[in-house]
Amino acid sequence: MEVNNIIDHLTQHGVKPSPQRLNIYKYLIEEKNHPTVDTIFKDLIGAMPTLSKTTVYNTLKLFIDKGVAKVINIENNETRYDADTSIHGHFKCEKCLKVFDINIDMSEIKTLDISGFLIKETHFYLKGICKKCRSD
Ligand SMILES: [Zn+2]
Ligand SMILES: [Zn+2]
Repeated sequence: MEVNNIIDHLTQHGVKPSPQRLNIYKYLIEEKNHPTVDTIFKDLIGAMPTLSKTTVYNTLKLFIDKGVAKVINIENNETRYDADTSIHGHFKCEKCLKVFDINIDMSEIKTLDISGFLIKETHFYLKGICKKCRSD
């Protein structure tokens, strides 16, 4: 996504694109690393010296509320964030601790009869060892 598109995307979802919000959203889109608040703070503080962890946290909370980002709770004790809000799964490698995107074909997924249920969130989590770590 280009910067102009990011501004449009945020504006369309009711997020006023302040420079800080733009930088944090751009980071999510470009890095695709499913970061925690700490990771974002650590990576952006150099370029944004006035940034605080509270700002990062509040910005992400706003992104979630407005539907431009999703929470990934693959571990109980860490919350990660993803700007890709399409339905896809996540694989966490226990060695390098990276979280990878996994494509999911929803039409191939068989569920029990849940007609009448309202699905608000969809999460697919897989854990194991990634290809690279297996060959190391
Ligand atoms: Zn790995
Ligand atoms: Zn993802």
